[in-house]
Amino acid sequence: MKISEIIKSKRTLSFEVFPPKKDGEGKAKLFAAIDELKELNPDFISVTYGAGGSNSKSTAEIAKYIQNTARITALAHITGGPSTPSEIDAVAQSLKDGGIKNVLALRGDPPIDCDREYCRYFKHASDLASYLKPYGFTLGAACYPEGHSECESLYQDLIHMKKKEECGATFFITQMFYDNSYYYRLVNEARKIGIVSPIIPAIMPLTNVKNIKRIQSMCGSTIPLELRNMIEIYAENPAVMEEIGINYAVYQTMDLVAKGAPGIHLYIMNNAATARAICGRMKNLFHELFGC
Ligand code: FAD
Repeated sequence: MKISEIIKSKRTLSFEVFPPKKDGEGKAKLFAAIDELKELNPDFISVTYGAGGSNSKSTAEIAKYIQNTARITALAHITGGPSTPSEIDAVAQSLKDGGIKNVLALRGDPPIDCDREYCRYFKHASDLASYLKPYGFTLGAACYPEGHSECESLYQDLIHMKKKEECGATFFITQMFYDNSYYYRLVNEARKIGIVSPIIPAIMPLTNVKNIKRIQSMCGSTIPLELRNMIEIYAENPAVMEEIGINYAVYQTMDLVAKGAPGIHLYIMNNAATARAICGRMKNLFHELFGC
């Protein structure tokens, strides 16, 4: 089903997974996690493309598993930055043949050991969105509550966000954030300049210290002092850290849905237990909002 249609009819609950670096056991584990996620009745599951060094070749295969075997609407990410037009055509055709209807059009980031000219053919996500139009996918794009790290101002970044909408994006998923006021500001400012598409907030539970370092190096999201203090005090106690991360994600989610967010997207790092823990703690609210 087209995500743009689902969002019109209800608030969405969605999860993000990434292809394991190695095939074989890693993939089998991911498929088992997807089967578990199905029990939570998500509206869609997205699968990343080459993010953080993961294997972009498996994205289409995993999206097809989500769509055709688990029978959950799949959202396949594609990054234009590292790709040639013929590579994009190959992946887009494979997704289309596999019945995938939804694509998140992204630029991507050059890996440290990048051996080819990055963004040679698709300079920005909007270029990829335009290129993908003939395939007939429902297109989404990324947006940044704290502004994208390369952009000189939030306002400029919003102008580029609008361009993505003009080039075909019909919904947005945010970068992770830990202070909801950044999300509310983004939505307010986006509406002021005429961006009309739903903006789905994305939450990544901070369940271990490794993730904190990763988040800061990857996207620089601000971690509020109160959360940072809790994390630092309990850094040596993984069980407590996990409780803090899950509870904080629950707190963010409850605030977001209470204030009218069109859905919740959870970055669960392929861990179905994390998704179950968050959904379990909001059983009644989630039942009311998402029908799960
Ligand atoms: P763009 O929209 O192209 O923006 C990149 C920069 O260029 C920004 O500073 C923007 O303001 C500027 N810009 C945009 N358009 C223009 C223009 N027309 N003129 C001038 N400047 C412009 N990475 C992966 O590798 N794989 C993934 O699967 C993946 N999934 C993601 C999912 C989400 C929800 C998010 C938020 C990010 C994801 N990323 C992924 C990371 C993403 O690729 C990086 O954040 C990247 O740096 C920017 O991607 P973008 O699509 O937002 O790029």
